[in-house]
Amino acid sequence: MSIVFLNGDFMPMEDAKISPMDRGFLFGDGIYEVIPSYDAHLIGFAPHIERMNQGLKLIGIDFKWDKTKWSEVCNTLIKKNGAANLGIYLHISRGADSKRFHAYTENVPPTVFAFTFAIPAANLADKSTAKAYKVSTTEDLRWQRCNIKSTALLGNVMHFQHGFSRGYNETILFNSNNEMTEGSACNAYIVKDGVVITPPLDNQILPGITRFMLLDILDKHSDIKVEQRIVKMDELFAADEVWLTSSSKEIAPVVQIDGKPVGDGEIGDLWLAAQTLYSAYKADY
Ligand code: PMP
Repeated sequence: MSIVFLNGDFMPMEDAKISPMDRGFLFGDGIYEVIPSYDAHLIGFAPHIERMNQGLKLIGIDFKWDKTKWSEVCNTLIKKNGAANLGIYLHISRGADSKRFHAYTENVPPTVFAFTFAIPAANLADKSTAKAYKVSTTEDLRWQRCNIKSTALLGNVMHFQHGFSRGYNETILFNSNNEMTEGSACNAYIVKDGVVITPPLDNQILPGITRFMLLDILDKHSDIKVEQRIVKMDELFAADEVWLTSSSKEIAPVVQIDGKPVGDGEIGDLWLAAQTLYSAYKADY
């Protein structure tokens, strides 16, 4: 049975009740976070909490627990749910008001919810066991504040479904200038002539924690060159390698886009180098 956390208490999932007037339900008015945990060790805990606090600030939800408090919640959930590989989902909405009214609530306590779900085992830096992603592409039609990890994910849901319904594992998005933004639930990269290239952080993409950790690890522990710059879609189709990153995927190699092979259609050597480094150093964060 899954044990969850709701507004200060741990309880079985079946007992967790949230008002239908909750603004998370009515408006998608909230911020969420997903932190991976392998063998009860949280990866990227501090940057995940910092991004969540930043998101809360950006949407004006006056709520801040320190890292010690969140660490207690996360580690208790891990203990109570006991699986080796877990995603810890944290969710703070603006709370339940007595009326449905767009303006921010006053004197309404935010709703704080957390639960765990199984995630795949951490990636092995091994081409023969890595999951090779096949993806589709479509125009990014989400809102203009994609740097905020909002619980309002309908745009992402529809974009993911675009690929999923056609048998693909993900969907890579491009803006009206034909520039790659990100995946529907992950950041995106190309590799060309030995250089790793990924779009710069702006309002069009989520500042992924895996992205932050990967770029930091490559910088500190390798000679692999990284560029953060605009990536045109024709560069995506001409890339030697394409990767996706997220907390539950780590670094995912893409071998096919819209039915066409990426490079030679096989998982690339730079992916292997990057995943090897990521596996070695991720526990530092
Ligand atoms: N972009 C989007 C749209 C996402 O939903 C996610 C997380 N699933 C990411 C990027 C990757 O973020 P992180 O590395 O922090 O999981």
